[in-house]
Amino acid sequence: MIDSKILHLILKEEKRQEETLMMIPSENYASQSVMNALGSIFTDKYSEGYANKRYYQGQRFSDELETLCIDRAKKLFKVPFVNVQPYSGSPANAAVYFALLSPQDTIMGLSLPSGGHLTHGVPSITFSGKFFHSVQYEVGKDGFIDYDAVEKLVLKERPKLIITGTTHYSRKLDFQRFAQIAEKVDAYVVADMSHVIGLIVAGAYPNPIPYVDVVTTTTHKTLRGPRGAIIMVTEKGLKKDPEMGNKINKAVFPGLQGGPHMNTIAAIAVALQEASKPSFTVYGKQIVKNAKVLSEELVKKGYELLSGGTDSHVMVVDLRNIGILGNTAAEGLEAAGMILNRNTVPFDTNPPYFPSGIRLGTPGLTSRGLKEKHMKMIAAWIDRVLKALILSKKQLKTNDTLERKKEIRKKIVDMAKELKLVNKEVKFLCKQFPIKKEY
Ligand SMILES: *Cc1c(COP(=O)(O)O)cnc(C)c1O
Repeated sequence: MIDSKILHLILKEEKRQEETLMMIPSENYASQSVMNALGSIFTDKYSEGYANKRYYQGQRFSDELETLCIDRAKKLFKVPFVNVQPYSGSPANAAVYFALLSPQDTIMGLSLPSGGHLTHGVPSITFSGKFFHSVQYEVGKDGFIDYDAVEKLVLKERPKLIITGTTHYSRKLDFQRFAQIAEKVDAYVVADMSHVIGLIVAGAYPNPIPYVDVVTTTTHKTLRGPRGAIIMVTEKGLKKDPEMGNKINKAVFPGLQGGPHMNTIAAIAVALQEASKPSFTVYGKQIVKNAKVLSEELVKKGYELLSGGTDSHVMVVDLRNIGILGNTAAEGLEAAGMILNRNTVPFDTNPPYFPSGIRLGTPGLTSRGLKEKHMKMIAAWIDRVLKALILSKKQLKTNDTLERKKEIRKKIVDMAKELKLVNKEVKFLCKQFPIKKEY
């Protein structure tokens, strides 16, 4: 039995998830089968090393499990080399750098406000910006990656490794162009597909595998598995360096990690099996269809989206033209039952904790079974909440007249009422679409 305090929190979290619309583009709902594997007896096993070369005894079934997981990944992604041991996405990227680079080599990635990840070389606060010489590229004023500008920067800085892949950039990436640019300076190209790997499996997003040397991905976002990560080396990567796979294995263990989480590897294997079903292709395509409708509805209502829309599962609303901050919007939407995150926008003059945008996406909504018509409802609710927040924005000041104080207080009460009304409708929809336990 789980002790009552923890059980209580688990049950409350379950209720919270059931009663809210989860639009955080990096989250999803793993199946009960994934969770069962995660909570299985493999939790207890130490398996330092790799299959058939472990440093502890009792590995017969761990070896079989890890080999099966690797084989499923190789088959699903059509790659010759896979490592399934990274604890999560950030350690996976660290392992790739550790395998292919020396300290202070130059790396190049998309900046955080433009949609890159912390591990793509964000200066001074991350290992990737501290232990390497990091040069970052940005999106252009139109919100799209300017490949000519990337090429210019690459020729000037001559990075040893270029990392592509994003956390809030909503448009397709041109992996072939990245590869052509990298070739000019003989740089490695790594595609970090954490956010879009499920879309790639479904054929709903460009596949980097023919063009890049290494692909990293988390397993808990659009892939809908447990929290974990996979590193793959492509045919191209192995041709460049036949030792690349071995180097990556050594970087993961013993370079950066100790024992792999065998229970996670079991759950990744389950998720890979689920992702190889035809229904997953339908799922991935529906994510993008839903995102398109949601983004178009928001644009119709006058909201400004980065790059004007989306080709994937994610979008960022730039709130600067309506004059509220991302945190205010995210908190207001939470009060109405819609869960998303505050987000910086390119060239944001506000700090990351009080940024100018919100980020939202459709992987979770789509797992729940929501379709285009529901996206229209959600866009209308978002609009109602944001409008209510804007109206109530005026701050009380000590020298306000009594009249003005009353007026402002009324607006705040009206806002709270509107959020409650929206929340009621949100809850009603949630009830009709319970979180799924099997796919
Ligand atoms: C989520 C993400 C990561 C990091 O994953 P964690 O599991 O949170 O460490 C790395 N890169 C990209 C592009 C991501 O979206």
